Amino acid sequence: MPRLDLVPIFLPGRQEMLDCLCETLNLQLGLEVRQHRPGFDAQTSFDPDRGQYNSTALLRMLLGDLPVETNYVLGVCGVDLFIPVLTYVFGEAQLSGPAAVISIHRLDPSVYGLPADEELLCERLEKEAIHELGHCFGLIHCQQPACVMRASTYVEDIDLKPAGFCHECNPLEVTATCRIFP
Ligand SMILES: [Zn+2]
Ligand SMILES: [Zn+2]
Repeated sequence: MPRLDLVPIFLPGRQEMLDCLCETLNLQLGLEVRQHRPGFDAQTSFDPDRGQYNSTALLRMLLGDLPVETNYVLGVCGVDLFIPVLTYVFGEAQLSGPAAVISIHRLDPSVYGLPADEELLCERLEKEAIHELGHCFGLIHCQQPACVMRASTYVEDIDLKPAGFCHECNPLEVTATCRIFP
C-alpha cells in the first residue's frame, strides 16, 4: 500500500481534525497514512509584506524533509498561503511528484464572518487534500462539475464539487504504480 505522511504546519489544537483526515485519506485513496512532525523552520516561508506564507517555499521544505520510505507528503497548514501571482491559494502540489501542501485557513467559515462549522471545514479539508494529492498522482484540472479535480477559486466552488474523482480522473491505477522515495 503506498504511504502518505501528513505534516502539520502551524496547526495547534487540531489533532482531532488531523486524525480524521488520516482515516478519510486511508479509506478514500487506499494509502497508508502516517503523521510526521516537520523537521524544518516553516517560519522562513513567511512574507512580511503580504502577511502570508509562500506555499512553494513550503513545498521545497517538505521535499527536503521527506520521511523514510514514504511515497507522498502533505503539509496541512493553519496559516494563509500564497504564490506570487495569486492573492491566495488553498493549496499547491507537484504534478507527478511526492509533495503537496494545503491550508485550512480559508476553508474555515469563521474567516468569512460566518458561524464556525467544524463539519463543513472538515469536508472542505478532505476535498482540498484529495485534490492536491490528485496532482501528485499526475492528474491535471478537470472540467467535470462532479469531480474533485475541478479547479476552485473560491471556497464556494469547493462546496459544489464532491470529494471523489470522476470516471476519467480515477487515480487508483496511478497510485498503484507510484514510486517509492527514500
Ligand atoms: Zn489544482
Ligand atoms: Zn475528473
